[in-house]
Amino acid sequence: MASSTKYIFVTGGVTSSLGKGIVASSLATLLQARGYSVTIQKFDPYINIDPGTLNPYEHGECYVTDDGAETDLDLGHYERFLNRPTSQANNVTTGRIYQHVIDKERRGDYLGKTVQVVPHITDEIKRRMQLLGASGEYEIIITEIGGTVGDIEALPYIESVRQLRWELGKSCVSIHLTLVPFLNATGELKTKPTQHSVKMLQESGVQPDILVCRSEYELGDEIKRKLALFCNVTPDAVIESLDAKTIYEVPQLLLAQNMDEVVLQKLGLPIIGKPDMTRWSEFLTRLESPSTEVEIGLIGKYVELKDSYKSISEALIHAGAENKSKVVVRWIHSEDLTTENAHATLEGLHGVLVAPGFGARGFEGKIEAVRIARETGIPFLGICFGMQAAVIEYARNVLGLHNANSSEVDIHTTEPVIDLMEEQKKVTHKGGTMRLGSCDCRLNEGSLSRSLYGRAEISERHRHRFEFNNAYLEALEAAGMRAAGINPETGLVEIIEIPSHPWFVGVQFHPEYKSTVANPHPLFVAFVAASLTHKQL
Ligand code: GLN
Repeated sequence: MASSTKYIFVTGGVTSSLGKGIVASSLATLLQARGYSVTIQKFDPYINIDPGTLNPYEHGECYVTDDGAETDLDLGHYERFLNRPTSQANNVTTGRIYQHVIDKERRGDYLGKTVQVVPHITDEIKRRMQLLGASGEYEIIITEIGGTVGDIEALPYIESVRQLRWELGKSCVSIHLTLVPFLNATGELKTKPTQHSVKMLQESGVQPDILVCRSEYELGDEIKRKLALFCNVTPDAVIESLDAKTIYEVPQLLLAQNMDEVVLQKLGLPIIGKPDMTRWSEFLTRLESPSTEVEIGLIGKYVELKDSYKSISEALIHAGAENKSKVVVRWIHSEDLTTENAHATLEGLHGVLVAPGFGARGFEGKIEAVRIARETGIPFLGICFGMQAAVIEYARNVLGLHNANSSEVDIHTTEPVIDLMEEQKKVTHKGGTMRLGSCDCRLNEGSLSRSLYGRAEISERHRHRFEFNNAYLEALEAAGMRAAGINPETGLVEIIEIPSHPWFVGVQFHPEYKSTVANPHPLFVAFVAASLTHKQL
């Protein structure tokens, strides 16, 4: 019931990048494993309406939900941990809040009133914070506040948490994530930054109930007691979060400190038994004791910031565990790949994955990577721009259409084998205007994809403007490339394969967004399996 929904707010202090998203996801996993229906939402204090228009170098990957929302990459963690889809409602930015309030003001909804941060902006933040709760679908909603306490732009969010704690009383818990650094010179862990961070939060009227302290070393009882004393929390509510070997270990690390019980007790919920982590533990065992290794090349142009490919690297980890093998990723910058060096750069790889992307920079390098994989029989997975690169490579080097290109890369190409979608031609705005979110796809009888998915109808998430140009379908098929999956409504080619190659699949959609711990994606699982087979050759 909406009225009994419990709320957990997660804020961060001292520094950014402490892993609020992972802590939120891990706690949610424990609560879900106790039978609660839980979701996580993220409130980001920046002014962009969504991260869709942000360069991956700025903010890492843009994650896409079923309903076509372009969101923060933390939503990917939420889905991977909980195995439950999120939606537009799970990610809100300051830009979106203000846009809504300003639209209302222009409509005259506040007629006569001065529109202010408090109460109008905070009211809208609070409304959004309770939107998923009001759906009645969830018993517990975890809200992660982006940024760090003390940031000017985070203030309206902290103020909204303060008001909601007042309004919701026992139904609400505040968790503050901080850093307890180790000073080499004195050989000590220091609590002062945490004390200051909590003070800052208290100045805004929010008293944390639970502290989660990131640390490289165990805190020990004395430090925990000290933190509890100075920060007004109970000693059992000082949780340490040590650097873990993998993010998937964090739920167990929190469970070992009974964090789930501390949270339930503070929320006034019954504590019965222990969370059922059987499946999670089985996954961890497979992940942490692989029987072999496989090396996969990830070819992209944002490889300096690995977060740009977060969902892909996590999907490879899931698929590795499923295959009881460790996937080692060789990050290859597509701008560095040339016809001359591509062979040597890809030497020894057991699989080649050409990543999504936008624009001309580094695109020729992606085409070279496809060529090597195709010519030498290395298993190949092309995602979105990677699939488009595969079509262009085939058109150029097998069909002999030397000018084949995407009109995104060369607007004057005489052979636009990849072309702008009809519905995109009239689009002028950049934000939220791509082909986004879940689309159906029908898999052709006899295709590799059909056997991997084990069914004929699938639905996968998209984020692109350009498409396979069906004017070239017949010629490409006659030359040995196959359209393996087609959108039933539009006829768009969503999957290509080369049946004469050991394992060659290009997908216009993003399978990586749907890979979770509980459900590793079949394409990634099969790609890693094919790479393992290639390794034996
Ligand atoms: N740039 C390509 C397009 O817009 C591919 C997009 C992607 O890789 N996500 O169609």
